[in-house]
Amino acid sequence: MLWTRAKNQKIADDVSIEQLRKNLYYLASDQMEGRAMGSHGDTLASVYISDWFKANNLTAPYQNGTSYFQAVDAFKKNLKHAELKIGDQVFENWNGWGFAMRSIETVQLENLPVVFAGYGIENSQYNDFADIDVKGKVVLLLNGQPQDTAGNYILSGTKQPASIATYQATLKKKGAVLILMYANRFSADSLQQRRSAFQPAYKNPFNQNTNLPVLNLSEERVNGLLANSGKTIKGLLKEITNTRQPKSFTINNTAGCHIQVDIIEEKAPNVIGMIQGTDTAAGCVILSAHHDHVGRDGDIIYYGAVDNASGTVAIMEIAALMNKAAQKGLRPKRSIVFASYTGEERGLLGSYHLAANPVFPIEKTHAVLNIDMMGRVDTFYSGRRPDSNYAYILVVDSVNRGLRNALFSANDKLGKLKLDTYYEQPQFMQRRLLGSDQYPFYQKGVPFIRIDCGFSKDYHQPTDTPDKINYVLLSDQVKLAFLTTWNLAND
Ligand SMILES: [Zn+2]
Repeated sequence: MLWTRAKNQKIADDVSIEQLRKNLYYLASDQMEGRAMGSHGDTLASVYISDWFKANNLTAPYQNGTSYFQAVDAFKKNLKHAELKIGDQVFENWNGWGFAMRSIETVQLENLPVVFAGYGIENSQYNDFADIDVKGKVVLLLNGQPQDTAGNYILSGTKQPASIATYQATLKKKGAVLILMYANRFSADSLQQRRSAFQPAYKNPFNQNTNLPVLNLSEERVNGLLANSGKTIKGLLKEITNTRQPKSFTINNTAGCHIQVDIIEEKAPNVIGMIQGTDTAAGCVILSAHHDHVGRDGDIIYYGAVDNASGTVAIMEIAALMNKAAQKGLRPKRSIVFASYTGEERGLLGSYHLAANPVFPIEKTHAVLNIDMMGRVDTFYSGRRPDSNYAYILVVDSVNRGLRNALFSANDKLGKLKLDTYYEQPQFMQRRLLGSDQYPFYQKGVPFIRIDCGFSKDYHQPTDTPDKINYVLLSDQVKLAFLTTWNLAND
């Protein structure tokens, strides 16, 4: 098919900066109220995207071809009550202790024995469990790994911590029931947690949390726990540092906690549309972005212009371009599924849902191209203006479907952007994988490309507003995503 690439390059040039701007200003406007999953703003956004899909002749996958809405079941956590008991003393939540709602469920534990288990490490070099038994007990832990007086990590001998089993894995195996973590930055961290408490936490039905509950304790609470044993946490830390040896022991005290988390069922839609391919047996490519953001805290709106109104308008624009191509008789071989997700900010709820309930079977899903944040020059590139035509990429294609080639050959044709592989370095890999909607598909073995613009100081702040977007850069990134999608759908 000689015609396809050249013609589609021309169609790529039809990207409308005005349309991108208009859609982005609307999605990141006051009335959207930060598009928190399930909110009025989220509903408005999903209707807007759905109407756009319809106007651009995308096929509707639901309700006999009449609906673009895929209802996502969500399970909101509602904290009813939380108290910690140390000996006979009871402390309400935030009074010197706290926890991350996301990783907590109902816990009911009464007056249990407590042990101090250092950093919770057990290996041939270092063993926090030689003289103690943690089974059925509450365990007080220090965060991180032991260091010597020069600040080197004992297990690695360098300033870099060693790669070892997590305390969660070790303590679970040993049958501990609750972790009390000494949080030396408790005040600052709890302030941060309380600030973000306007964002509800959700339970993810596809990714059950099997970790032991972790409560973060201030120095005062930890020392209260240790008082009968005549120790302080800083004293213990010092002993470990000076002797380079574990100092585990059974604490002469008891601890327990009552945390009640109710689950409230909610629904909010993903918006899914399709351009049908010419070869139904060839399966599909998914082009995705999340339209939800973190919402509002009272009068303060978190606009989420870059995160991720930008990616949303990108896939909307690409839908319009693909429709244009289809009108001219240019249809891709594979179908293209446009997925605008809700619930990304609540733990990838929308993408987990689609991966579990896909339009095409997973084994017929050739690739995912996920866009999360575009059109803003990040803190690294800003100030280097000549160099700021870039996009960060992450390509994971262990089954060799030619994804990297699809991306780079598209970019060669356009010749505008530097494709930056900084985040493909192994130290960033895990966070990049987990950090956006490609992850549920990656878990099922689908290769993916992620494109983004990196982080600015306005990331997840009320100051992430549409006036700060560079619309020319955004349009160049959209062209890249368009041609890459086309390549993925035809290669
Ligand atoms: Zn995002």
